[in-house]
Amino acid sequence: MAKRKFRPQPGKHQPVPSQQVKVDLNQAETMKCEYCGNVIFMKATVIKRISALMSPTGQEALMPIEVYSCGSCGQVPKSIMSDVGLEPPKEEKSPIEGIL
Ligand SMILES: [Zn+2]
Repeated sequence: MAKRKFRPQPGKHQPVPSQQVKVDLNQAETMKCEYCGNVIFMKATVIKRISALMSPTGQEALMPIEVYSCGSCGQVPKSIMSDVGLEPPKEEKSPIEGIL
């Protein structure tokens, strides 16, 4: 086993954050399901497939992304859907464009 050298970092000491950030949850907006108004969300995972062309390693890879889906109706908020590169399920576009 190689010995690990302890090197003190030159420069400033990092101050320990003594200030706690207080968040008043009564002032914070509660995210509601835009489809049914429910406020309880469940964790869900979207898995994106990174093609070999896009991947930094040059190999296809799967990339799980955590999202939240409504605990009542199961819909994922549109803002989250667009974050992961998905369209909201109700707005269906005709897949005609791009064929030419
Ligand atoms: Zn819902």
